[in-house]
Amino acid sequence: MGIKVCKFGGTSMADGNIILTGAKIIQSDAERRYVVVSAPGKRFSGDIKVTDLLYECSDAYESGDEAAFQKVFEKIRSRFLNIEKEIGKDLHISAALDVVEKEILSGAGRDYCASRGEYLAAKIMSAVLEVPFVDATEFIRFKEDGTLDETTFELGAKVLGAHQRAVVPGFYGLGANGKVKTFSRGGGDISGSIVARSVMASLYENWTDVSGFYACDPRIVNSPKWISELTYQELRELSYMGANVLHSESIFPVRSAGIPIRICNTFRPDDAGTYIVKNSTRDMREVVVTGVAGKKGFTAITLEKSLMNSEIGFVEKVLSVIGKHGISFEHLPSGIDTMSLVIDNEYLKDGILQTLLDEMETLVHPDKLYTHENIALVATVGHGMAKNVGTSARLFKALSEAGINVNMIDQGSSELNIIVGVENEDCADCIKAIYNEFFN
Ligand code: ASP
Repeated sequence: MGIKVCKFGGTSMADGNIILTGAKIIQSDAERRYVVVSAPGKRFSGDIKVTDLLYECSDAYESGDEAAFQKVFEKIRSRFLNIEKEIGKDLHISAALDVVEKEILSGAGRDYCASRGEYLAAKIMSAVLEVPFVDATEFIRFKEDGTLDETTFELGAKVLGAHQRAVVPGFYGLGANGKVKTFSRGGGDISGSIVARSVMASLYENWTDVSGFYACDPRIVNSPKWISELTYQELRELSYMGANVLHSESIFPVRSAGIPIRICNTFRPDDAGTYIVKNSTRDMREVVVTGVAGKKGFTAITLEKSLMNSEIGFVEKVLSVIGKHGISFEHLPSGIDTMSLVIDNEYLKDGILQTLLDEMETLVHPDKLYTHENIALVATVGHGMAKNVGTSARLFKALSEAGINVNMIDQGSSELNIIVGVENEDCADCIKAIYNEFFN
């Protein structure tokens, strides 16, 4: 009998009734032995996720605004007490909330505060299922530089292996300084993957509020084609570029062990979902493109210099400028005498862009140095592209027919994706044009 790890996301933990639905799903299959949960998310549009309330709490504590802290903490308290009431069982949540409040007020730190939504949600799920609670700090370890410590998996196998079944809070582990440390937002998906790898699961089920991946964002194209299967690489490309179903880093723990991930819908548990696998079983001559996704908010810094191609160390110097400021880049399209760096605008706030330009000017003396702000990147992804001649011709013809100006083109040598840079305002039309070309 295999082991299934089930991770329930924020909307699947949003109120007592949906938690009970999740519990039934777990109990309906004896292989579902390890459960990872997110903090309660939104119950309706306009609602606030518990994690966002906790970050507000932390801000209020750090700014010394006691009244604001109490106001937000009361909202969190009532969220959890409501859940307890809906479940109809004494889960000792009030006492647990008192401890959390005391710890935050005694300076336990921002990550500790943010992690308590998952902690309390796991306590609730553990009590509902009558299955042991295992804290993530017992085995998820981070290194000094903030990346995951590889010892996590061995420790996880030992700690989780001591229990036939367990409920684990997602989103955090133990930092190198001995304090709670969180992953980036949405990181509960990574925790699920870590648990799956630690117990060498046969399947990692990620329960959420959609029935899997679609070939593009349903807010852009009405009822897009559903994707039954993706490879880890395709998932990484699509989720990194904005397909918001699963955290883009969640494949790493399961990838080397080849553990498949299944996206399942808690609200429609009988739907087949999307499988994310190591090697595709699809006929790549038939599936040219797997999906299209886009993300707005990038800037391209372009440098032009005659004979750039023969100037040893030119690119290295340019990269040293952004490296010095702790900035990473997304793409580096280049020509003989030109190169561009495409950078997420998140890195370029507060005058940093001008600082980078000044430093590049001084260091490499380009003939021309200019920026193109407000770029959206749209990725067309699929292993099938390498097998089908004429894919890029079709893509660019579709964009030209739709009147979309392409600012940048980047195709990875693996031919897994073709990325185009367009104006932010053309992002949706660009996705639509590519989708219509390959799926209609
Ligand atoms: N609760 C965290 C967040 O809102 C982590 C997660 O849900 O995976 O980002």
